[in-house]
Amino acid sequence: MAAAAISNRQLFIDGEWRKPILGKRIPVINPATEESIGDIPAATAEDVELAVEAARRALTRNKGKDWSRAPGAVRAKYLRAIGAKITEKKSDLAKLESLDCGKPLDEAAWDMDDVAGCFEYYADLAEALDGKQRSQVSLPMETFKCHILREPIGVVGLITPWNYPLLMAAWKVAPALAAGCTAILKPSELSSMTCLELAAVCEEVGIPAGVLNVLTGLGPEAGAPLASHPHVDKIAFTGSTDTGRKIMTAAAQVVKPVTLELGGKSPIIVFDDVEIDKAFANIFWLNGDCWIISDKKLLNGHFLGAFGQMVRSAVQHLAFWCIIDACCLKLYMPRPFQDPIKDSDSTEENISGEFLRKLVIWAQNIKVSDPFEEGCRLGPVVSEGQYEKIKKIISTAKSQGATILYGGGRPQHLGKGYFVEPTIITDVETSMQIWREEVFGPVLCVKTFKTEEEAIELANDTHYGLGGAVISKDPERCNRISEEIQAGIVWINCSQPCFCQAPWGGNKRSGFGRELGEWGLDNYLSIKQVTEYVSDDAWGWYQSPSKL
Ligand code: NAD
Repeated sequence: MAAAAISNRQLFIDGEWRKPILGKRIPVINPATEESIGDIPAATAEDVELAVEAARRALTRNKGKDWSRAPGAVRAKYLRAIGAKITEKKSDLAKLESLDCGKPLDEAAWDMDDVAGCFEYYADLAEALDGKQRSQVSLPMETFKCHILREPIGVVGLITPWNYPLLMAAWKVAPALAAGCTAILKPSELSSMTCLELAAVCEEVGIPAGVLNVLTGLGPEAGAPLASHPHVDKIAFTGSTDTGRKIMTAAAQVVKPVTLELGGKSPIIVFDDVEIDKAFANIFWLNGDCWIISDKKLLNGHFLGAFGQMVRSAVQHLAFWCIIDACCLKLYMPRPFQDPIKDSDSTEENISGEFLRKLVIWAQNIKVSDPFEEGCRLGPVVSEGQYEKIKKIISTAKSQGATILYGGGRPQHLGKGYFVEPTIITDVETSMQIWREEVFGPVLCVKTFKTEEEAIELANDTHYGLGGAVISKDPERCNRISEEIQAGIVWINCSQPCFCQAPWGGNKRSGFGRELGEWGLDNYLSIKQVTEYVSDDAWGWYQSPSKL
């Protein structure tokens, strides 16, 4: 499937595969080899116009009875069928995802399970919506009756990033369709191939024409006209804070609601009451059999994937930790710390020294390779642009006085491809770019603290507010810190578990709105109030005191 998909796909509009009106295509580069392996269609405003018309027709066809006003149970059948097809095609889809964005094949396969699970979960919620579509509101006057209707918002534009290409799309497409919306999905131009396959899956399960349209293309050419289109009723966006700002500005011109899942810089606070190996396992999300650091033994497990660009971000498999920040993870530990290399034989070492030493061993043992190689735990970053950006941020940190404790460059054994070594940076000042800005690469900054208050202050000294984690044996401290951290998601003694049932989203410049869970469905529903006067008496003029 992979080869055919790369060469043949067109835009998916109104249930058909259509060439972009201007005939443009974008090359697909395998980030592990830097070779062009095909191309994807490049939509422009002309194609957006067609897709919006198709989505609007699908919304209102047969007075909405075919989709938007059909029972949720009808939509649930399609969502379940999509989930089942994703599972059936899991292996091919995972390969395509790895080829396109560079994430290790194991991680991509894991993502496909999550994608299928997300469609199944929202199938259940679509069915449950039937019982909640209309609910009574009690009023203080018997002469009035009131109920609310939960209605689909309408035509929605869904714009997604490159780090979890199909999963980020599923987080939006599944709840949007469950709610009865019709949608136009615009995936990242850097990793669109599995989203085109999602369109093929929709075609196979016979979803009504126009319900889901997939437009691949560049942000300014395809994303921007979608965000500003007057007949698109809402935009749900995941991506960088800079792009989020542009989308919000465009949407504001037509007073269009947006939800924004933006960048992050997520702190992990580790206290000295923990057993280091266990803390390590929890932070980096190593599974039972993949405990860390037994000398030269490789860590296994998700963590590694995480440390990758990818995402599970920022550590993505720190993942889902960071889905968040997919980027640069900040780690705080009690001070003082010692040079982990110099003091490696010291018996007086403290947690930070020991932790750092193990961190370095762990990083050394991460298998960085082509994502298809057995045991790969860190693939290339997605593109040359991202590769150059990460290198520049690391070299700026160095020139500003930070210490590159491990990594920082291209792995010696890999001459081609956008590979970056897992990188650990210490001696970081809070004013440095590496501490303040999202890197979105396999880069971990480490800083120490003396008191809980200082740790909290450091953790909150950021414009971002996506996620955070605290690792400690003291439950009261964990609870205190979970309340103090200014972020949309806090993990206690773990990192990155991500459940369809729980809300996902950030505060501050990490955005607003929540995906997943019932909150994810609410993103695509509009609440209508219906109030009826049920008395034969005239309502009359305003009389004080008000009875309302
Ligand atoms: P990006 O902002 O560059 O692009 C995201 C999407 O926006 C792409 O589809 C792109 O084509 C489109 N786009 C670009 N310019 C546009 C414009 N002017 N108008 C409309 N659309 C436009 O982000 P990226 O590099 O693809 O993804 C990485 C970012 O995503 C990181 O900042 C990361 O933190 C963030 N992210 C956040 C979460 C979260 O849960 N909050 C999850 C994953 C990724």
